[in-house]
Amino acid sequence: MDLRKIGKFIAKKRAEKGFTQESLAEELDLSNRSISKWERGICLPDTSKMPALCKLLGITINDLFSGEIVDMKNNEKKLEENLLELARQKEQKDKQLLSLEWVLGGIAVVTLFTLVIIAAAIDMPEWNRLVIMGIGFALFIVTMLFGLRIEQIAGYYKCEKCGHKYVPKYWPVFFAMHMGRTRHLRCPKCGEKSWQKKVL
Ligand SMILES: [Zn+2]
Repeated sequence: MDLRKIGKFIAKKRAEKGFTQESLAEELDLSNRSISKWERGICLPDTSKMPALCKLLGITINDLFSGEIVDMKNNEKKLEENLLELARQKEQKDKQLLSLEWVLGGIAVVTLFTLVIIAAAIDMPEWNRLVIMGIGFALFIVTMLFGLRIEQIAGYYKCEKCGHKYVPKYWPVFFAMHMGRTRHLRCPKCGEKSWQKKVL
């Protein structure tokens, strides 16, 4: 997926339809900066805005992803290519997120241990010791909560019973028993509780 090409295409279609960046932003209930970012190839429009954008520009979603008007003969092939590319990008992003979770976990553990050792080894007033340990535990907990958030949104949990893949809400993930990244969750499709693996 060529973001620069898509950006130029959006700019061209916008001008053809007589929109300025401002007026298009207004139609979509967005800031001018979003439109400018798309047109400079920095990012894609939010999927929630894509249908409205395409309608305003008189193009299909497939045209948008391709950065050009796709002729009907190639339509299906282009659509498949675009879908594959989107899936690949999502998978890559999820992998990066899950590695980030490891890094965060590592940093949290090292920070906590360092602060505990400092507090235990260095001679200081008792309340200083408590403050240092308190900061250590607070940092540890915040990092863990953030790591769990990453784990919740990256990829999917797969129901063991029916094979349904989904992204659960934060708190069920938080409270679920777990072994590594496999969690005991209730499937929203079949309603059964099972050990659900994290899949990308
Ligand atoms: Zn299920």
